Amino acid sequence: MIHAGPVDSYYQATANPLPPRPALDHDISCDVCVIGGGYTGLSAALHLSEAGFDTVLLEAHEIGFGASGRNGGQLGSGQRREQGDVEKLVGRDDARRLWDLAEESKQLCKALIERHRIDCDLKPGILHAAHKPAMAGEFVRYAEYLRSQYDYAHVRPVDCNEMRAMLGTEAYYGGSLDTDAAHLHPLNFALGIGAAAAQAGARIFEGTRVLSVADGTPASIVTDKGTVTARHVIYACNGYLGDLDKRLAGRVMPINNFVLATEPLGPARAKEIIRDDVAVADSKFVINYYRLSADGRLLFGGGENYSPNFPSDLRGFVRHYMLKIYPQLSDVAIDYAWGGTLAITLNRLPDFGRFGRNLYFAHGYSGHGVGMATLAGKLIAEAVAGTAERFDVFARIPTRRFPGGALLRWPALVLGMAYYSLRDRL
Ligand SMILES: Cc1cc2nc3c(=O)[nH]c(=O)nc-3n(C[C@H](O)[C@H](O)[C@H](O)COP(=O)(O)OP(=O)(O)OC[C@H]3O[C@@H](n4cnc5c(N)ncnc54)[C@H](O)[C@@H]3O)c2cc1C
Repeated sequence: MIHAGPVDSYYQATANPLPPRPALDHDISCDVCVIGGGYTGLSAALHLSEAGFDTVLLEAHEIGFGASGRNGGQLGSGQRREQGDVEKLVGRDDARRLWDLAEESKQLCKALIERHRIDCDLKPGILHAAHKPAMAGEFVRYAEYLRSQYDYAHVRPVDCNEMRAMLGTEAYYGGSLDTDAAHLHPLNFALGIGAAAAQAGARIFEGTRVLSVADGTPASIVTDKGTVTARHVIYACNGYLGDLDKRLAGRVMPINNFVLATEPLGPARAKEIIRDDVAVADSKFVINYYRLSADGRLLFGGGENYSPNFPSDLRGFVRHYMLKIYPQLSDVAIDYAWGGTLAITLNRLPDFGRFGRNLYFAHGYSGHGVGMATLAGKLIAEAVAGTAERFDVFARIPTRRFPGGALLRWPALVLGMAYYSLRDRL
């Protein structure tokens, strides 16, 4: 499931230049070894280094190679599930804690961007667009619920006429606008956290794949050219875990999701399709999500698959979804298209935990990881330092493994996903 080939990505083409980091080529020891250089691992490395831990981060490719460098860039509010569902799953008190932690995740990202002067095109606003009239009512109801139950005043209903004026499409029937949510250039955000972590003292090795981990105190993390001996280990591999640890693999399911970037549209045309430069996420089960880039392209995410391979014609694959919303863009060239792999859980809430006393993991953000994975890194750092209260709010969310475990989970997922995406089309 690891796609290491060339990535035809707008984000790579516009990445802030950074010096490459060396591969590990000898044996070393440290306090904490982090496996994976996405938001989870980079944020953990930053917060651990700031707290005085000697931290090593190992990344198989380059920092931001995974979902963190390829995603839709939407920094959303709350959890991936609505708060009412979260309440049923964990009770009112923990649901409130999870809401507050989600709020903290947004503020953490904004604060990191400001503190470390990360140049990543941060802009406010996510518009949730209803693809069916009944869904529009749901968005209005949920906005009111958040206002009355969670004191969240940054979301307001948007009626059908206003939505159509804001988005230049008749595909939607209303929805809601969240002005404290935001969007950003995801790869530059990841690179910025990486630079801050290195600045704080973390030793980062790229091109260094972990082949195995021998549990123990200390643990041994084996790569092809060197071994790291560490008092603590953090798994931060999310959808790219592969078969590194079978205990983790059955807890999440990797799925692929795809994005394109059009040619620059020019200011007038860009404004016609997204008037206020907000990000958009619609209510389909296989969500369409889109926004404008800093240079006025439409960045459109649509379509997913559940196979080890990406579709062969990625541009055509995502363009099909884009033209359903914006048929008027049929004359526009597609300059880039790429895909990424994310991990979902059965309950669509993140999966945090530990093995023994010194191995931590956080993954399965289910498409809601920009803020949540960044926060996860911070909460793991707190737990390593001895204060696990906030980490444990996530760790005690009841989780179920995918039926079939690490090996046989695919068929059931593919059937389930096919059913729901069929409903999108009806
Ligand atoms: C197309 C797409 C769109 C998305 N859109 C959004 C969005 O708009 N908003 C949102 O909130 N979330 C979104 N997500 C989800 C979000 O991107 C992820 O939840 C988040 O980036 C996860 O970060 P991570 O650090 O846990 O994992 P990743 O960023 O995937 O990083 C894992 C890293 O681990 C490395 N690795 C794996 N195995 C090894 C090994 N053995 N040795 C060394 N390194 C290893 C990989 O190379 C990879 O770099 C999207 C995801 C995708 C794919």
